[in-house]
Amino acid sequence: MRKKIIAGNWKMNNTISQAEDFVASIIDRINVSDREVVICPSFVCLDTVYSVIENTNVKLGAQNVYFEEKGAYTGEISADMLVSCFVDYTIIGHSERRNIFSETDEMINKKAKTLLTRDIKPIICVGETLEQREQNKHFDFVKSQVINALKDIDEKSVAEKIVIAYEPIWAIGTGKTATAEQANEMCKFIRDTISELYSKKVADKIRIQYGGSVNAKNASQILNMPDIDGALVGGASLKDEFVSIVNFE
Ligand code: PEP
Repeated sequence: MRKKIIAGNWKMNNTISQAEDFVASIIDRINVSDREVVICPSFVCLDTVYSVIENTNVKLGAQNVYFEEKGAYTGEISADMLVSCFVDYTIIGHSERRNIFSETDEMINKKAKTLLTRDIKPIICVGETLEQREQNKHFDFVKSQVINALKDIDEKSVAEKIVIAYEPIWAIGTGKTATAEQANEMCKFIRDTISELYSKKVADKIRIQYGGSVNAKNASQILNMPDIDGALVGGASLKDEFVSIVNFE
């Protein structure tokens, strides 16, 4: 049985004091054990958020990492730095990173491998544009993103460490959610792709989230679909509404 994983991606929101106040206000209501909850604040808030969630079941996530170990990469953050902040998960390949910061599949694959060497679990985002969906190219596109992101990654890591987040770009921050059926269809397709690449055993183990305008109203319908193992939540993770999403029934 795959444990559901609900991660909040704060993006570039919350100062240190805002982060501390907000997490303190929800921590008792998101400290659950039957599902995994991850908060992904900005780098500067990692330490503060950790101080609030330490000694609870809630995990800390980062929103990015650089794939080189260390050196002259001004402005970048290494996997070792994330380890030193007690980070368990890191989002990579978010469509905002791909589109605004020109990240490629190759970079995302390198980031995944680097995180795995430090035992940080990558949350790898994939997803098509509206145009690709309308041209019926969405399955081929997402399949290529999955294959490229997982290149040369061993099956044990894929089964136990990697999380894939299916985030159709047209549903991110737009209030336009994929239907539960559309989301499940692609999550199942990703699982079938993993089965082809590795094995059915690995495909049955890997967790695949849906992300894109998940909110308190639609969470339960989406999260009860058979191939959707959790949600990556943007806007709603900045509000008290996150508590309802985490506690969906
Ligand atoms: C995201 O950025 O990962 C996301 C899913 O955002 P939102 O929930 O705001 O659509």
